[in-house]
Amino acid sequence: MNKTQLTDLANNPAFISGIYNYCDRWCERCAFTSRCFLYATEQADPDANDPELRDLTNEKFWQKLQNIFADTARIISEWAAETGIDLDSVDVTEEMAEHKREMEAAEQDELSKMARHYAMTVQNWFRDQFVTDEDVHDDAMNGSEPVSENVTARDAAEIIQWYQFFIAVKLTRALSRPASIDESSDDEDVLTADFLPAEETDELVDYDAVISRAHRIDSNGSAKVALVAIDRSTAAWGALQLSLPDKAHTINQMLVELDRLRRLTEKRFPQARDFIRPGLDEVLSEFVS
Ligand code: SF4
Repeated sequence: MNKTQLTDLANNPAFISGIYNYCDRWCERCAFTSRCFLYATEQADPDANDPELRDLTNEKFWQKLQNIFADTARIISEWAAETGIDLDSVDVTEEMAEHKREMEAAEQDELSKMARHYAMTVQNWFRDQFVTDEDVHDDAMNGSEPVSENVTARDAAEIIQWYQFFIAVKLTRALSRPASIDESSDDEDVLTADFLPAEETDELVDYDAVISRAHRIDSNGSAKVALVAIDRSTAAWGALQLSLPDKAHTINQMLVELDRLRRLTEKRFPQARDFIRPGLDEVLSEFVS
């Protein structure tokens, strides 16, 4: 997609700004596909449905990624040239080194380690309880009652597997700006994804304050979607326990690990539950014209 096509697409007023920043990326189950710029760009790609492009072990995946990188770099260069910005004059070496240090610290954080441990426990559980993925589905579908009208055991297994690594990724991101995390803060200014202060003119903007606020917003938003994933995973394990009574006792460990994750996430990010994700946590009628 070239710059003009991208700009035309972005100008669609139906899109909810930034909705994809704090969603769970489960587009197949998302009610907001028609309002999501990211989904639209992916669908506009003629290769969108090629399964080889979703396979990390396939060379076509990496070639595609390289092409996306080249296109993005070209579009950024064009925008910089149009706005008179000399990209070569910007030295980001120190910022990149700082970001690397923050990411490494986040990965070593107790919460991040707990989330990775949960992901591996889930991996081992499915490996030990079911020989193949087909077994998961067969066992979940046969010889077990539907958990409810809306949730089958197969749904529950899919939900658990969708979120098992996602939780760790989002929590690590939430932790990656330690300087911006203030556990005692009750500042409501960081409970929405509006990064720029509305009333300040360009001359009055304190950019350091804006960046610090943006980091706090991003930490809360990332922790919020991790909590959503923890809650849904907990419900799904509960459903699986009801549906597969012979395996119920083996599921207790997962529920305990998720409960610890939830408690510690709420403690470290006390404002996260109140964070309003664009579109996803807002009243739909506010958007529909
Ligand atoms: S908001 Fe919905 S459609 Fe857009 S990326 Fe997230 S899950 Fe996919």
